[in-house]
Amino acid sequence: MAEIRVENLEKSFGSFAAVRGADFTVRDGEFFCLLGPSGCGKTTTLRMIAGLELPTGGRIFLGADEVTTQRASQRDIAFVFQLFALYPHMNVRANIAFPLRCQSMPRAEIRRRVEEAARILRISEILDKPVSGLSGGDRQRVALGRAIVRQPTAFLMDEPLGALDAEFRRLMCGELRALHDRLEATTVYVTHDQLEAMSMADKIAVMNNGVVEQLGSPREIYDRPASMFVADFIGSPPMNFVDFDARLASGDRAVRIDGAEIAIPELRETARQPRCTLGVRPEHVRLSDTSPLRGSVYGTEYLGTTQIVTVATGHGFVKARLPSETSVRLGEPVGLAFRPEKLSIFDRQSGRVLRSALHDGATHG
Ligand code: ATP
Repeated sequence: MAEIRVENLEKSFGSFAAVRGADFTVRDGEFFCLLGPSGCGKTTTLRMIAGLELPTGGRIFLGADEVTTQRASQRDIAFVFQLFALYPHMNVRANIAFPLRCQSMPRAEIRRRVEEAARILRISEILDKPVSGLSGGDRQRVALGRAIVRQPTAFLMDEPLGALDAEFRRLMCGELRALHDRLEATTVYVTHDQLEAMSMADKIAVMNNGVVEQLGSPREIYDRPASMFVADFIGSPPMNFVDFDARLASGDRAVRIDGAEIAIPELRETARQPRCTLGVRPEHVRLSDTSPLRGSVYGTEYLGTTQIVTVATGHGFVKARLPSETSVRLGEPVGLAFRPEKLSIFDRQSGRVLRSALHDGATHG
């Protein structure tokens, strides 16, 4: 398996820039997710790595070799689309063997590799069955088998679980990650589903409008979002935003909102303009009788051990994740307090986070 590196990668279709200046390294053995909303450039980035699309700028390396202009067939990479695409007239064995037949590999070697793939995927007993009668899960495994028999340097997967219902998706996520670990593979996985990315990835590139907005581990991206876009895209419910105006400077350790002094991680830069937004995850909000930051309970959503309580404030709605046993009444006036060390402050004009003690050590895209 090998490292994949893209440098300042660009792709334009006519005057439209689909991918702008993507820069990242997928380490050998890493499970790397390209995550973002529809149209943000994930598939185009993956297709360039695969060699199915020629970049209009930048470079791509596979291990030590530059492959930017190499055709797909010259790159030792397996591309997995939606996993259901099987050849209906062939049985399981022939489906898995197909890529090796295309390479004119000796029959004994094909047999050995197909049986090894089937063992890894636990489908040995259905090798001689037609694919037409298979369950969804077995069809996925056959399609994966076809990708792994080639023993490629890397796997590229584009929303491979897109066609599945939610429960089965979660199951297959676990299987895919386990398979990746067993093969010690390098995997680049495209998805718009944040839960899928958060549960599987070692590293995530969050894309928006053709740009990688942040590069980091799931925890980094969740705890220290680099922009309001990332903060809003990751997490369910997403991060709360509270707008305020202030002249913030490097060294500040508090902000004032509605007369409440709110402690924040020490700022490490001076804001360029006064329109700011405080970002706080629902689990870092609590109700406080003494806080001057006031609102009234607007709604509650029961989630088993926790509940999401929505509070209407002069700055919009703020959601708090509280223990289910906390009793709240609709319309009840409440004060809000935030966990200081977990707060992010954003420049509302650019959407970018202001660097602070919270971000020390974080990697930004
Ligand atoms: P989705 O999940 O919807 O596929 P994506 O993030 O994978 O979204 P891309 O498929 O990479 O997005 O597309 C990025 C942008 O580039 C989109 O606006 C798309 O319409 C545009 N695009 C992609 N391929 C072409 C093409 N061949 N010609 C023109 N525009 C294209």
